[in-house]
Amino acid sequence: MAAPPPHRIRVVCRLRPADDAAVEVRGASLIVPKNRSVRESRDELPAQGGLRFGVDAVYDQSASQVSVFEGEAAKLVDGVVDGVTGTLLAYGQTGAGKTFTVLGRGGTASGAKYDDRGLVPRCLERLFATAMRKRRSGRVVDVRLSVCEVYNETVVDLLRPPPEKGQPVGLPVVERNGLTEIKGLEKAPVASAADALQLLYDAEINRAVASHAMNCASSRSHLVVTGHVVCSHGEDVTEAKLTIVDLAGAERVNQTQSRDGTATLREAGYINKSLAFLEQVVVALGDDKPRLHIPYRSSKLTHALKDALGGTCRTTLIACVWPSAAQADQTRATLRFAARMGRITCAPVVGRRRSASEDAASKVVARKLRNEVAVL
Ligand code: ADP
Ligand code: MG
Repeated sequence: MAAPPPHRIRVVCRLRPADDAAVEVRGASLIVPKNRSVRESRDELPAQGGLRFGVDAVYDQSASQVSVFEGEAAKLVDGVVDGVTGTLLAYGQTGAGKTFTVLGRGGTASGAKYDDRGLVPRCLERLFATAMRKRRSGRVVDVRLSVCEVYNETVVDLLRPPPEKGQPVGLPVVERNGLTEIKGLEKAPVASAADALQLLYDAEINRAVASHAMNCASSRSHLVVTGHVVCSHGEDVTEAKLTIVDLAGAERVNQTQSRDGTATLREAGYINKSLAFLEQVVVALGDDKPRLHIPYRSSKLTHALKDALGGTCRTTLIACVWPSAAQADQTRATLRFAARMGRITCAPVVGRRRSASEDAASKVVARKLRNEVAVL
């Protein structure tokens, strides 16, 4: 399969239900009421009665889980089996519907009238169905799952039970062959979607225990679920991953302290610091003048997501919005971030693993070079 052409990060918006919805949807644009005290930025276009934010698609309150999956995730899953890494990020304030979108809410019983399962279980099902089709055409498909939580600067493996006493062990983020990975993270082999869902269930229990030990509410940590797929057909081996991230709550506080003690409204700051670093990376990547240094290493979250941001994969941001009038400030902040994200371009590539014979050939070359250097 040829590498897909470069593309902008896809940015879509999902609205949760609200009785007093103040956000208006016009096609793929959202009109959010204006607030005089907040400085307007170039991401916002004034519209009658508010500010207009354009995105690639809007899923309004009536959108079902299946429509979000089919519109945003199904293609990414198929791409992963063909060797193109895909990332789905759910972003937004606490209560805006990130976990509902990513994991869903109960309702897994077959034949349920309204199926509320989120993206992760649906992606896993599609992944195994696609893998099965590939296997029928003679390919070998290996699927592994990893689940981790990033809380402050600690990455916790949720497929390993946390220690009975004390804090969970934090894992380092490293770069290998130009790709980032979390060193020591369990990649559990999974044979079916049911297998994977059982592991996710265990991970949720481990998360509750780890969060308790670290004294963190789940809305303050990022959940990262990754499916690693290796697909081989003879010597041709592709390798890719699908990463789905339920980000921490993106709420902000208005810092009203100034040096002389008078209350002045400054740029609102995130409660969760790693999101501020994520925003810095997004701003740097979306800059009109390309920057040489992108501060990926400034936090564990941005470092772990390096490949997913401005890298070699397909990325979709789902901006979750709580359209209530009382949440308008947070909604504007969420959509401003989404607009910045939408300016980033990625150049997806097919991830190829070198075949055994290529590996052997390169070892021979390396040995030859070493010998030549030794002679010199
Ligand atoms: P977050 O993870 O962003 O903090 P949640 O996903 O926990 O938010 O959503 C908050 C509440 O709103 C939950 O009770 C959830 O079930 C409900 N909710 C969110 N989005 C939707 C939706 N699209 N349809 C129905 N209920 C929703
Ligand atoms: Mg949540």
